[in-house]
Amino acid sequence: MATVIVDGIQVEVPDNATILEAAKLAKKEIPTLCYHPDLPAIGACRICVVEVEGEPLLKTACNTNVRDGMRIRTISPAIREARQTALELILSRHPQKCNECVRNGTCELQALASRIHVGEISFPYRQRPGSPDVSSGAVGRDPSKCVLCRRCVQVCEVIQSVGAIAVQGRGYDAWIDTPFSRALSEVGCVYCGQCVDRCPVGALFEVSHVERVWRALQDPEIHVVVQTAPAVRAAIGEEFGLPPGTLVTGQMVAALRRLGFDKVFDTDFTADLTIMEEGHELIGRLRDGGVLPMLTSCSPGWINFIEHFYPDLLPHLSSCKSPQQMFGALAKTYYAQKAGIDPSKIFVVSVMPCTAKKAEAARPEMKDSGYQDVDAVLTTREAARMMKEAGIDLSKLEPEDYDLPLGVSTGAGVIFGVTGGVMEAALRTVYEVVTGKKLEKIDILPVRGMEGIREAEIELDGLRVRAAVAHGLANARKLMDKIVSGQADYHFIEIMACPGGCLSGGGQPYPTTPEIRQKRAQALYEADRLLPLRKSHENPVIQELYREFLGKPNSHKAHELLHTHYTPKPVYG
Ligand code: SF4
Ligand code: SF4
Ligand code: SF4
Repeated sequence: MATVIVDGIQVEVPDNATILEAAKLAKKEIPTLCYHPDLPAIGACRICVVEVEGEPLLKTACNTNVRDGMRIRTISPAIREARQTALELILSRHPQKCNECVRNGTCELQALASRIHVGEISFPYRQRPGSPDVSSGAVGRDPSKCVLCRRCVQVCEVIQSVGAIAVQGRGYDAWIDTPFSRALSEVGCVYCGQCVDRCPVGALFEVSHVERVWRALQDPEIHVVVQTAPAVRAAIGEEFGLPPGTLVTGQMVAALRRLGFDKVFDTDFTADLTIMEEGHELIGRLRDGGVLPMLTSCSPGWINFIEHFYPDLLPHLSSCKSPQQMFGALAKTYYAQKAGIDPSKIFVVSVMPCTAKKAEAARPEMKDSGYQDVDAVLTTREAARMMKEAGIDLSKLEPEDYDLPLGVSTGAGVIFGVTGGVMEAALRTVYEVVTGKKLEKIDILPVRGMEGIREAEIELDGLRVRAAVAHGLANARKLMDKIVSGQADYHFIEIMACPGGCLSGGGQPYPTTPEIRQKRAQALYEADRLLPLRKSHENPVIQELYREFLGKPNSHKAHELLHTHYTPKPVYG
């Protein structure tokens, strides 16, 4: 431990702590811009400069370690001048068009400019190079708004191991670009949106589906149904000022109903269905010597990644569609029949924590209902934006229940939103189906937690099933390399593209930090604990769906509607 003095306040910190962390302990919030707690600190923006006694130059607090006896000043005339100059230079390359920007109100640069007042900007405005790009239909870029914090580059390279964007040029004239300045849709980007989540300004954003949803809601001829993904309920409250990890399932349902949706359904229902299909697929592969390890397929960011970077491993993927797409296919077939509605008049909207789901819904093969199965995908942020525009404060509403029949789910469905959740849900069902015995310890703790890669073993009538879980694509890459080199002796692997799983997907409320991730995870486990049914095969509506419509898991009809195929994709398409 080291003893340091921050603005006259003495604190004890680990000797590898940074000045920024020491200041936090002393209850001093040093302003930052390029710093993000998930990423290596690089001190690029120089907003966090401080004075250290005995040092001639200002130090960047985010990447300078403390030493015992260090005396730090976080505010002084020299610090103020340095921060104002740094901010002025940043603002001189940023279009002052806050009213038109999607980040108006959540922009970190706006907040910084409000905290560090610079007055008139003395440098002439020079636009950064590059044109807006929304070619992916999921993640958009507007390089003119970039403040060159490099967070996107770091998350894409370090956490996702994709490297779709990089810094080009040097110094004041540097910019962020794709390889060969190609569109994002042509450079192996997996649309995970982790860069969108880390971007402090509006230079990266989701491609909006808000207007198409308003149009559908205002059309009296159209029956508009909405599904909500598991992770949305643990995060959307943050948009309305509630603390991270506040579970607002019922209030979210009420708010969506007030927005005008004809039916409010739950993606957790088709998460249960995914477990039925995927669990039986795994049992079949274990019994019949199929391709192992089987890889989960519900994260479209992960699907894009394996299609681009490990095409030879595609036969390992489960053929199950994601819960979003299973829902779309059922809404325009099973639900349409049951409700007596012409499927061409049904418009399916998803509320997802995810940017990649927008591209997934638009895939040409996702038309097994005879129509585009999902018509529009709103991120959690976009859904909240619509509610706010309509004057609906979700936090003030009384909880309401989902509609029947596609709104009934179990605890297994809700933990799909957290890393390890799909694995845990699958093992709950596979164990009981294979052994015919009741699973006593329903919480499968070895697959829980935030370790990048976790392992578990489960005994199934004499066969020990080895499972692994990875989240964040750099961790997925490690597991795929093990499979390629023949070192992976697993039967079943769950991969989620985003760190922590969907609860920190690229469409979730700003910001997502390690603490917020933990709180959202706790909320989902709490939702599971509180539900009367916690195993997918016990869902009575799933049982009815098989009786009335699908036959049995992995039946011909189930394959037609609920399963898909994958296509190798070149990195530079
Ligand atoms: S969406 Fe994901 S893969 Fe694409 S640039 Fe952003 S972080 Fe990289
Ligand atoms: S695009 Fe956003 S995250 Fe990337 S460098 Fe620019 S401001 Fe930072
Ligand atoms: S982990 Fe979840 S949020 Fe992230 S890409 Fe996959 S489905 Fe989307």
